[in-house]
Amino acid sequence: MGKLSGKTALVTGASRNMGRAMALRLAADGALVAVHYNTAKDEAEAVVEAARQAGGKAFAVGAELGVPGDVATLFEAVETGLTEHAGSTALDILVNNAGVLGGIKPEDTTPEQFDRILAVNAKAPFFLIQRALRNMPDGGRIVNISSGLTRTSNPDEIAYAMSKAAVEMLALHFGKYLGPRGITVNSVAPGITRNDNPVFQMPEVVTAMASLSAFNRVGEPEDVADVVAFLCSEDARWITGAFVDASGGTLL
Ligand code: NAP
Repeated sequence: MGKLSGKTALVTGASRNMGRAMALRLAADGALVAVHYNTAKDEAEAVVEAARQAGGKAFAVGAELGVPGDVATLFEAVETGLTEHAGSTALDILVNNAGVLGGIKPEDTTPEQFDRILAVNAKAPFFLIQRALRNMPDGGRIVNISSGLTRTSNPDEIAYAMSKAAVEMLALHFGKYLGPRGITVNSVAPGITRNDNPVFQMPEVVTAMASLSAFNRVGEPEDVADVVAFLCSEDARWITGAFVDASGGTLL
C-alpha cells in the first residue's frame, strides 16, 4: 500500500519535466493521477503509460490555461476521468505546476506578454483552486509551484517573478481559509531545474548554473517531485501556508 493509496490527484503541466516527475511520483505512491497537458498530448499519454508500467494509475487531460473557459474545460475532463477510473469525482490533491517563463528584457516586455504570464502562472492557479474545492474532501492537499526568483534577482524575469510572488499568496491566504477543513496549501520554489531548455545541453552553461547551488549541480525534476510528494502526504499534515525552498541551496 502506497502512502497515497485511494487518493486522487491533478498535476497541471505534467507532460514534461518537473510536472511529469510529480505525476509519476504521486502515481508511484498510489494516487490516481490526472496528467494535465496543453500542447504535448503524446508526451502526456506517455506519462500515463509510464505510470501504468510502474503499477500506478493515471489518465491524461488536456486544456490550455490562461484563456477564457480554461478551468471549466479542464475540470470537465478531470471529472470524466475520475468518474471512469475511481467511480467518484473526489479530488484529494491539486498541484499547480504549469507555468511559462518570461526571458524578456524589462524594456521589451509588452502588456500582452505580461498579461499572458500572469494569466497562466497566477490567475489560473487561483481559479483552479477555487474550482477544485468543490471536489476536494477534508484533508486535501494543494501545492503551488513558485520559483527561487521571488528571492533572487533576474531582470529578464520581472513579470515572471511577479507572477510567482502572486502564486505564493495562495498558500498564505488559502492556507488560513482552508485550515478548518484540514486542507493544506503550500508553495514549493525550485531553483534551476533540468528541462527542455537548450542551455541544459551546453556543458559550460550547466557548470555555471550548477555553481549557484550549494550542492554544485543543477536540479533534476525528481528533486522537486519528491518534495511535492511529501507535502501531499499525510506526513505533512502540520505544514500549511509555507514557502518551501526546493532550490538545492541556491538562495543561501
Ligand atoms: P516546462 O518543462 O516548461 O513544462 C511546462 C508545463 O506547463 C508543460 O507541461 C506545459 O504543457 C504546461 N503549460 C505551459 N503553458 C501552459 C498553458 N498556457 N496552459 C496549460 N499548460 C501549460 O516546465 P518546468 O521547467 O518543468 O517547470 C515547471 C514549473 O516549475 C513551472 O511553473 C515553472 O515556472 C517552475 N520553475 C521552473 C524552474 C526551472 O528551472 N525549470 C525553476 C523555478 C520554477 P505542454 O507541454 O503540454 O504544452
